[in-house]
Amino acid sequence: MHEADLVANTVKTWLGNPISRRLLKWVSKRNEKGSKLEVALKKYVGENEKLSIQERLAYWIVKLALDKGSQSFGVSKEQLVESLKNPLVRRGISNVLEGIGYYGVQRPQTTAAPFLIVWNFTKQCNLRCKHCYENAGPKPAPDELTTEEAKKAIDEFAEAGVVALSFSGGEPLMRKDFFEVAKYAADKEFYVSVATNGTLITEKIAQKMKDAGVQYAEISLDGFEKTHDEFRGIPGAWRRSVEGIKNCVKVGLDTGVATTATHYNLKEIPKLAEFVEKDLHARRFIVFNFIPVSRGKEIISQDLTPKEREELLDFLYSKLIDTNCKLDTFSTAPQYAVTSFKYAFGPAVPTHFTNKAAMETLQGRTKSLTEFIGGCGAGRLYCGMEPNGDIEPCVFIPIKVGNIREERLVDIWRNSPVLKKIRNRDAFKGCGECEYKNICGGCRARAYAYFNDLQGPDPGCSINEKYWDEVTRIQTT
Ligand code: SF4
Ligand code: SF4
Repeated sequence: MHEADLVANTVKTWLGNPISRRLLKWVSKRNEKGSKLEVALKKYVGENEKLSIQERLAYWIVKLALDKGSQSFGVSKEQLVESLKNPLVRRGISNVLEGIGYYGVQRPQTTAAPFLIVWNFTKQCNLRCKHCYENAGPKPAPDELTTEEAKKAIDEFAEAGVVALSFSGGEPLMRKDFFEVAKYAADKEFYVSVATNGTLITEKIAQKMKDAGVQYAEISLDGFEKTHDEFRGIPGAWRRSVEGIKNCVKVGLDTGVATTATHYNLKEIPKLAEFVEKDLHARRFIVFNFIPVSRGKEIISQDLTPKEREELLDFLYSKLIDTNCKLDTFSTAPQYAVTSFKYAFGPAVPTHFTNKAAMETLQGRTKSLTEFIGGCGAGRLYCGMEPNGDIEPCVFIPIKVGNIREERLVDIWRNSPVLKKIRNRDAFKGCGECEYKNICGGCRARAYAYFNDLQGPDPGCSINEKYWDEVTRIQTT
C-alpha cells in the first residue's frame, strides 16, 4: 500500500470513525476560556496540573489521538511533546483536530477555522506595481476597519483558533496603527508576519517591527534594479527595498524575499536567488505565481507558459534540496508539490504554507502529509480579508463570502456556498481528473481569473496544457 494511503487509513480509522468524531467535537467545543482540547494539549506537554473531571476525560481522549497520530506519521512522542510546547503548534493541532471532528478526515483536510488569514490591512501604497491584485493607490479606502475594529477582529480570530496572521496590503506599514495592531495580535499568540514592499523599513522601523512581535517579514523584489523599478512604477524603489531587506536581516528578523514570476523577470530569477542568499542573507526566497487579477489583467500576456513554470519549479526545488544552499526556496504555485514528488529521495513540499524546518522535523515523512495539506489552501486552510473586513477565499480571488463586521468568522467559514464549492475537488474541470488533485488542486485564483470559474482548470500546468492553448488562443483572437 502507498505510504500516504497507509497513513490516511490509520488516521481515518482512529480519528474519522463516528465515535471518535463525536468525542473530538465534544473536546473541542469552545467557551470564552477556550476548549477542553487546548487544556488537554497543555497537560500533554506537562503544563496544567489541576484538571476537572471533564477535562481529565478530554485529556485521555486527546492523548490517545495524539499517540496514535504521531505513530502514524512516524514522529516520536518526545518530538511531538517538544513541538507542542510551542503555543502556536498547540493552536495549530487544535484547529486540525477540531476540523476532523467537524468535517471528518478528508483528503485534503479542511480545518475548523482558517489556519492563516492574509489581511490586506490597507489599500494605501507608496508604489504603483503593474501586477497589484489590490489596485492599491496613494489613499486608503474610506471604509477600512478602525483600530478598535481591527482589534475586535483579532479577538474573534483567536477565539476561532486561527494560527497565523499575515499583514499585507497595499503597503501595511503605511497605516499609522500598524505596530499597535501587530503587537495586539502577537500578544494574543498569533504567528505574525508582514508582506511589504520594504521601501519604508529603516533600521529603526525594522527594530520596531521586531519589538511589536512580528516573526517574519517578506519583502518583494521583482528582479534587479531596472526590472524592479519598471515593474514597481517608481524609480529608486529597488534600492530602498534592498535597504529594507538588509535592515530586517540586521535586526535579526526572519526575512524572506518574494518575487512574482513573469516574462519580465524570468531569466533573472536564478541570479536573483543567488543575490538573495549571498548578498542579502535572507532565509527564504519565494516565487509567487502570477495571477491576472485587478491591475495584473493588463499584463496577462506576461504569464509563464506551463513549460516555463515547470522548469522554474524544478530550479527552485533543486536549490531547496541542495545542502550547500542556505536559502529555503518555495513557490506559491501549488504544482510545487508535484515537482517535489518527482524526486524520490527529496522531501515532499505539501504547499506554499510550509517551511524547510517543518519538513526537516518530519524527516521526509511529509509525503504522507501532502494529501492532507493539499496544495492550494484557499477556503480550506486559509482565507483573505480586505481592509473593510470582507472575507475572501484567497486574496487573489475577489469574491466576498462575508464580512467580519456583520458575521462571525466561523459562521462564514462553515456556511459559505462559495467555500464549499472550492473545497470540492472532484468537481474541478481538468484538475479534478488529475492524479495530483489531492496534493495540488491547481491554483483556484488562476482558474477563476482565466475562466471565471472557481472549479475551472488551472491553465498553468503541463497536465492542463489544452486549457493553456485555449486561453492563449482567446488572447490572440
Ligand atoms: S488560490 Fe490557492 S494556490 Fe492560488 S494563490 Fe490562493 S491559496 Fe495560493
Ligand atoms: S492538472 Fe491541476 S491538480 Fe493536476 S498537477 Fe496540474 S494544476 Fe495540479
